Amino acid sequence: MLFAAEPLAPTLESARKVLKQYYGYDSFRPMQEDIISNVLAGQDTVVLMPTGGGKSVCFQVPAVVQEGVCVVVSPLIALMKDQVEALKANGISAAYINSSVGQSEQNNIAADCLNGYLKLLYVSPEKLLSEGFLTFLKRMRISMFAIDEAHCISSWGHDFRPEYTQLRVLREQFPQVPIIALTATADRLTQRDIQTQLRLNEPRVFLSSFDRPNLNLIVRPGQDRVGGILEFLERHQGESGIIYCLSRKQCETLAGKIQAKGIKAGFYHAGMTPNQRASVQEGFLKDDLQVIVATIAFGMGIDKSNVRWVIHYNLPKNIEGYYQEIGRAGRDGAPGTAVLFYSFADVMSLRDMLSKDDPNLTQLNLTKLERMQQFAEAAGCRRKILLNYFGETLPQDCGNCDICRNPPTTFDGTELAQKALSAVVRGRERLSISLLIDVLRGMRNQAVLSGGFDQIKTYGAGRDLPYLDWYSYVHQMLNDGLVYIAYEEGYSLKITALGKEVLQGQRNVLMKKFQPAEKAEKTPRGRKAAAAKPAATSPEAALFEALRTLRKRIADEQGVPPYVIFTDSTLQEMAAERPVSRVAMLGISGVGMKKFENYGEAFIREVLAHGGNPAALADLDEDTLSINLDPDDPGAPRAPRKKEVNTDAGSTVEATYQLHRMGLSPEAIAERRNLALSTVHTHLSTLYAKGFDLRIEDFLSPQDLATIQTAQAQLGGEPMLRDLFDHLREQYDYFRLRLALMYFKRLKGE
Ligand code: ADP
Ligand code: ZN
Repeated sequence: MLFAAEPLAPTLESARKVLKQYYGYDSFRPMQEDIISNVLAGQDTVVLMPTGGGKSVCFQVPAVVQEGVCVVVSPLIALMKDQVEALKANGISAAYINSSVGQSEQNNIAADCLNGYLKLLYVSPEKLLSEGFLTFLKRMRISMFAIDEAHCISSWGHDFRPEYTQLRVLREQFPQVPIIALTATADRLTQRDIQTQLRLNEPRVFLSSFDRPNLNLIVRPGQDRVGGILEFLERHQGESGIIYCLSRKQCETLAGKIQAKGIKAGFYHAGMTPNQRASVQEGFLKDDLQVIVATIAFGMGIDKSNVRWVIHYNLPKNIEGYYQEIGRAGRDGAPGTAVLFYSFADVMSLRDMLSKDDPNLTQLNLTKLERMQQFAEAAGCRRKILLNYFGETLPQDCGNCDICRNPPTTFDGTELAQKALSAVVRGRERLSISLLIDVLRGMRNQAVLSGGFDQIKTYGAGRDLPYLDWYSYVHQMLNDGLVYIAYEEGYSLKITALGKEVLQGQRNVLMKKFQPAEKAEKTPRGRKAAAAKPAATSPEAALFEALRTLRKRIADEQGVPPYVIFTDSTLQEMAAERPVSRVAMLGISGVGMKKFENYGEAFIREVLAHGGNPAALADLDEDTLSINLDPDDPGAPRAPRKKEVNTDAGSTVEATYQLHRMGLSPEAIAERRNLALSTVHTHLSTLYAKGFDLRIEDFLSPQDLATIQTAQAQLGGEPMLRDLFDHLREQYDYFRLRLALMYFKRLKGE
């Protein structure tokens, strides 16, 4: 085992160990560490963090290092089940109780709570408040209460759950037990409701940045959406994603078109039976369905971390909704993509819809829609606009949105604008946007001919430009206030006073050059993409695919979603690093002890099948940390990665290395780290094998090295360590012999 069975103390240090051992992560994200310190200090805590920010760790890790059970209140059965499965896969004992759990199972769970075996117990609010449950809780030791999705408490929010408002009983009945409340909703009213309704005691509030830098934000013109989506799917083969549509009908039709291309797609909306919906959701979680076309009913409470992209077929009503929906992509931290199809027509239909809703909210909702529209039409970094909306400022442009990746070039568009404005006026201000473009391009369709628009002077004046280009320029004119849309007159375009000035040549217009959509996804040369992905044909990509297939097979055998086995980002790291030994595999972010035990060998075999050295497998049978010491093995000795050297003591091997560099002897390191000396020796030889520099002279004098070299020569060839050990009459231990042999190989440049 990597870790000796040290008793855990509720300290940050042991929390770090738990993060490495159970989750396989080297370090906490910045805010997690502060939050966990606060929780361990027994303080009430409020955590506001975006989806994918890593909230779960903030209460799960303290739950493991503290005595007693952490009771987690969670509003959705699917979510509970997911989280408990993920915890178990990491080797942490957890269970849930809700209406779907039978009495006998409940009794088992109760017993596990009482005997201190269980670390986390998830309950629905209904269950928590049901008769006798609080009495049951009183019989056990509770480390803390975690209120997940805490915004459900606020009647201002969209997910209001009346039972949540009764959670104050927890404080009343368990005044000594600290409470941590977590949500991805940041607004002030909700925050206040959480604090007062839960009766929190001077809580510390942690508001994390809402930035999701791994998401590439893209807005595309709403023309030929289906074509655009099919082309997008072509470029994102095998990647899970969600397409949000406004109507049920749209969901079904679009899913059909995608299926027709041989892609496994399903649809999901409120008009389906609960069973139908559950089976679609299940298919998506298990990667049996690659694409879900859904209304916004889909997604809440889905923990699937390997959703790689989200597409909005229509403009969302507001930025809150948009941000929540795109937040479902890239939760594992690996690159994700969010594409929004934007057209003015959507704005118009949403305006109609919102005006019919609750009259008290109309103005607010229309204002929110306007902000959404501004985002879609932005000429500057989109992430800046988003974060600004949530009250944050980004000092620089993000480099990972369509505008940053491909800054639009501007040109003098006065002449273009004049052509369009002239057509607007000569068409007696009766042209809609699409009709205007048809007239400019000299089309001979029904609408053009029946209105007699083929007779006006500007007919065909813009035939040199394709439809999409004109579409973009007319929208820019709208945004610049040269024309406006008369909604009540069949959406016809009218010229404004400013437009007249342009038409009369009194004012110039600067326009952004229209860019075809694919360019927005490309990375500008010379800049390393946040979304860097191996080229589809590279060996790395082939290995990634193979690892994904293996993950899917194991997941199906075990009846869990694939991302519970390993996240996409973990597989990507495996594909890049090609770990073929225990140590290297444990060095991959997301591979903890339990997962290594369960899946490590299978994944190493897959890496080996893709060009690793089979000899390395022998390592796996040893119950030590030894690594394949054969430097001929392409997988084992590797130049040190910067990350490994620089990070703190998150990983046990790294911690040993840090202490070695500080000048400590192996004995001192062992004592300091409460490890066996042999473990420290293994760490050091592993590091040396991996290409790290050690102070060899600390362990072997020149005289020692000469003696060993002579012995090696006498034995001939490549002696077994055991023979060398015997030959030298047990004068040197295995550790020093191993180092010496590696040292000679290095000298020879092997
Ligand atoms: P949230 O609940 O805030 O939506 P999660 O707790 O599901 O987010 O975490 C999102 C993803 O980030 C998960 O895959 C999780 O395992 C991973 N993660 C969390 N903390 C860390 C960390 N310190 N280092 C690396 N990955 C992390
Ligand atoms: Zn940007």
